Amino acid sequence: MKAVAVLPGKKGSIHLVDLPEPKVEDVPDGRGVLVEVLRVGVDGTDKEIADAEYGAAPEGYDFLVMGHESFGRVLEVGPNVRDIAPGDYVVATVRRPGSSIYDRIGLSDVTTDETYRERGINLLHGYLTERYVDDAEFIVRVPDALNEVGVLLEPTSIVEKGIEQAYEIQRRLKVWRPLRAAVVGAGTLGLLATLALRLRGLVEVTTLARTAPPTINSELVEALGVRYLSTREVPLSEAAEEYGPFDIIFEATGASVVAFEAMEALGRNGVLVLTGISGGNREIKVPGDRIMLGFVLGNKVAVGSVNANRSYFETGVRDMALAEARYPGWLGRLLTHPVQGLENYAEMIRLLTGERDAIKVFVEVK
Ligand code: BGC
Ligand code: ZN
Repeated sequence: MKAVAVLPGKKGSIHLVDLPEPKVEDVPDGRGVLVEVLRVGVDGTDKEIADAEYGAAPEGYDFLVMGHESFGRVLEVGPNVRDIAPGDYVVATVRRPGSSIYDRIGLSDVTTDETYRERGINLLHGYLTERYVDDAEFIVRVPDALNEVGVLLEPTSIVEKGIEQAYEIQRRLKVWRPLRAAVVGAGTLGLLATLALRLRGLVEVTTLARTAPPTINSELVEALGVRYLSTREVPLSEAAEEYGPFDIIFEATGASVVAFEAMEALGRNGVLVLTGISGGNREIKVPGDRIMLGFVLGNKVAVGSVNANRSYFETGVRDMALAEARYPGWLGRLLTHPVQGLENYAEMIRLLTGERDAIKVFVEVK
């Protein structure tokens, strides 16, 4: 069986490997689910893995099978699987439990373990292959009606977690009623965050990104009834004066400069969710006193958010269904760049690294 792999730490090492066929019996206690992979999306994390900046091979292997944004169809289930059946469309979660107390209660996304295992990223093979098997606990059903957009569920789960964390935190305020939100970044995560905030009922949302409109991204933002601004024309601080105060800011850029700008632009009692992965080592200059004073006098919160456990995938399914009802066809427009077949991995990398107009690059495995 074919799979797309890299030699972690070796740039340009992407290649096809041959894996043994997975079997339901590979998972203990009759809880195995064997899935045929239909589509796999790729993102910035995959880019970093391909660039040898991130990622680790499973024990006993020198290669890592890539791909953590899966979508597939169930072929077979073990005798103790009741809620998933052959033919179901499914998406698998990414992180697997470690040993901290959080892992033991199903919250591996907030593990305190130093090393964590993530399929397609760290120490576990991913989904850029023909079939995979996993424990039913990590397999989330997707209704047939979402089969065209199901590959967006993993990135959606990341957004759902970030927003849910913000609302959880804001329960400290007893009567928090967010009115105005800003999303910084209009890639897949920024767009999905814009959508999720609209679906939560936020009426005044402003989404900011570098590129001047019109772009597909700005059109997608505006199709949700949201204001799109280019930070080249209107910096975040100005946007906050004009369209704020922002009760919630969702950062999806990975640029640390933006994180600190957002801290300053955040309104009183506001919450800032940071989700971008700033892989580099850059040092920046920030107006520290001003930011700190604003935080203290404004009772503000900033929270980092990574990964997502099963419950956020389930919220994601509900939001995707609601999105199809309220904004029919919108999700599908994010799927800009299909790649045919695992053997076209070079094209996948080219689109991922070089195609400026790409929103979601994904492989049609079958
Ligand atoms: C994935 C997350 C993962 C994170 C860090 C992201 O691209 O979507 O599931 O936790 O990378 O490895
Ligand atoms: Zn990802």
